[in-house]
Amino acid sequence: LPPNDDLAAAIRTIPDYPKPGILFRDITTLLGDARAFGRAIDALAEPFAAAGIDKVAGIEARGFIIGGAVAHRLAAGFVPIRKRGKLPHSTVRVAYSLEYGIDEMEMHVDAVRAGERVVLVDDLIATGGTAQGAVTLLRDMGAEIAAAAFVIDLPDLGGADKLRGLGVDVHTLVA
Ligand code: IMP
Repeated sequence: LPPNDDLAAAIRTIPDYPKPGILFRDITTLLGDARAFGRAIDALAEPFAAAGIDKVAGIEARGFIIGGAVAHRLAAGFVPIRKRGKLPHSTVRVAYSLEYGIDEMEMHVDAVRAGERVVLVDDLIATGGTAQGAVTLLRDMGAEIAAAAFVIDLPDLGGADKLRGLGVDVHTLVA
């Protein structure tokens, strides 16, 4: 892979957001930079160009932006995984752990068919709790998770390793 210094430089870090002590990685600057956004989408999609991907699943909300573009690049469908109560049709639901406490996410029951090959996408993986919830939903519906892909990995928080421990191939662009 080419070095991703240009992508790292396009991501802004906001100190003390959303609370004191947190360094928030803000991808809106990357999204607003046509060249960096295009490079990030190409780099996320490239490993799967010939992998027979049926669907890209994106996690609300930044995973929709990245995942929609990756889906288009792979000529795949897109599946939104949302916070509880946002999807209009029948859903499957899973509880997942956040830094403090738990939340629930949902996917439409007919969003993936058994055996479909899915790439899971989000902007960032930290503890991996969010991605693990999405993996559970997709596998419960019989999907085959070809990989999970993230723009940013916070490796000290262990999420990528946690996903690998679940047998998921993990791709990230910037640490
Ligand atoms: P995890 O569940 O601990 O891996 O946290 C990842 C989820 O939280 C993803 O959906 C991210 O969008 C969000 N998240 C956590 N930290 C950041 C950050 O610094 N910038 C942007 N999103 C973040």
